[in-house]
Amino acid sequence: MPEMPKNLPQPQLKPNTEVVLQKRYLRKNLDGQIVETPRDLFWRVASSIAVEEEKYEGSSQKCPQLARDFYDIMTSWKFLPNSPTLMNAGTDLGQLSACFVLPVGDSIEEIFDAVKYAAMIHKSGGGTGFSFSRLRPKDSRVGSTGGVASGPVSFLRIFNTATEQIKQGGTRRGANMGILRVDHPDILEFIGAKEKEGEFNNFNLSVGLTEAFMQAVEKDEHYDLVSPGNGEVMKRLPAREIFDLLVRKAWLSGDPGIVFLDRINRDNPTPDQGDIESTNPCGEQPLLPFEACNLGSINLSCFHVPGHENDADPAAKGIDWDELRRVVHLGVRFLDNVIDASRFPLDRISETVRKNRKIGLGVMGFADLLFQLGVAYDSQQGIDLGERIMAFVQEEGHKASAVLAQERGPFPAYETSMYARRKLGPYRNATVTTIAPTGTLSIIAGCSSGVEPLFALCFTRNILDGERLVEVNPHFAAALEDGGLFSHELMDAVVAKGSIQDMDYLPAPMRKVFVTAMDIAPVWHLRMQAAFQRHTDNAVSKTVNLLNSATEQDIREIYWLAYQEGCKGVTVYRDGCKSIQVLATGEGQ
Ligand code: UDP
Repeated sequence: MPEMPKNLPQPQLKPNTEVVLQKRYLRKNLDGQIVETPRDLFWRVASSIAVEEEKYEGSSQKCPQLARDFYDIMTSWKFLPNSPTLMNAGTDLGQLSACFVLPVGDSIEEIFDAVKYAAMIHKSGGGTGFSFSRLRPKDSRVGSTGGVASGPVSFLRIFNTATEQIKQGGTRRGANMGILRVDHPDILEFIGAKEKEGEFNNFNLSVGLTEAFMQAVEKDEHYDLVSPGNGEVMKRLPAREIFDLLVRKAWLSGDPGIVFLDRINRDNPTPDQGDIESTNPCGEQPLLPFEACNLGSINLSCFHVPGHENDADPAAKGIDWDELRRVVHLGVRFLDNVIDASRFPLDRISETVRKNRKIGLGVMGFADLLFQLGVAYDSQQGIDLGERIMAFVQEEGHKASAVLAQERGPFPAYETSMYARRKLGPYRNATVTTIAPTGTLSIIAGCSSGVEPLFALCFTRNILDGERLVEVNPHFAAALEDGGLFSHELMDAVVAKGSIQDMDYLPAPMRKVFVTAMDIAPVWHLRMQAAFQRHTDNAVSKTVNLLNSATEQDIREIYWLAYQEGCKGVTVYRDGCKSIQVLATGEGQ
């Protein structure tokens, strides 16, 4: 590995970065003492990922310089790889991916294999998704014992409990996605599984909606519930009633979510390797069974060029497109190298990952960039900007993957992939782009998360293990300073409210631009998700926030719009419908 250069600059840490790095990311010795500095951490990651370059003879990059470039894009907070890469690159563990999907077969051996594999993945900081759709329904016969099967939901409980125990010793809370197809005979039990507060707390649950189901909803028809395995039609249910039930549950608790399974499979780049049955825990990464993916995110707020806020097209010169292109290309190379550097807990996973070489480059800090450019999130201009930026990242990302294919060869399964069939490529990676939630990365980079609007302009954040951080959005603070509007009374009022929409004494243009998640009508949330999805190979992590007063009809409309607009799934959250919130405004605390 290249030696750390003597003059390597120290990273300039954002206010909350140090706390987060100390908690979970800096290496510790057996006594629990921290043994590396933030500079050591970023050099460990940069150098161990750059060194992978050396095995490629045709490489256009030289390892020491590349290590320095990787170090620079991370410590300027322009790009960060997902948490497991920051934690484990260059260490003995060496597991660098955030996202996994494991199959759950319909036998005791296969079920408990999946529990074990999930435990191993959680230990290394990865999250796991499972489809339980292959399990025979509750009360069906078990051939070998003459007993009756307990069904997907009861097995789900075992996975949940195992996760609970592993999180004590692991690097971070293991997260899970559990999916059941809408045509599984146990679907009603699954839809109600999280009714009791705290049940299945280590799982996000989503119902896998099929095209046939959606058409039955549209035509107000019944649809078949089919037993997996023997294909027997066990029952028929009115599709609209199930759809309405999903809407009601989402209104009550936010659970379960929905994913459009057939649509996900329509975009499956390697259909010859089987169907995609599940996504990772937060829904942004559909994967084949035994597949993993590593993610990385570009912080858009770093690419703002000040002084163009009043231009007719503030993005044309207000974004440093050349620098964005450079970072996209470096990011793709970084993430492709991560695949080679990763050590997975199972050979089956290594094989699938190395065949398809999926990566997920995305963005964060989008809401910050909108603040910087003076563009409202809930405006056509905001949507157009999101679309334009992601189209650019996607196009340049694909170009970068094509360059790597020239240097290193296409991903091994390329010849049988849809790219080859459509005469596209060759590419080094079966997928290139994903919009991750960036829950922790955005704290480290000091920016807004993913493509979400700000939750509040000022808020206290509950972070790891009950610690709290107070945050004021820096762009909002700067705008107040510029307008000579900054006062302690105002700050107190904003901390209490989170939003400035009721503050008539602030200028209207300011109130238009500095909107928060709750100020934004749900339909704009959805439109933004759809705009990013149109230019993302994988999926988009996004929550459609609703006011507490939102109705079931509001949710029904959002679900339907998500279907029509080509989203791969949708998550809604009605304010106050769960007792524990990760983020909270000052009110009621
Ligand atoms: N993830 C997980 N546990 C967590 C947070 C995240 O397993 O506590 C996984 C999960 O697959 C999620 C993905 O990491 O979908 C990306 O999440 P995020 O972008 O928030 O992670 P970060 O890299 O910011 O820590």
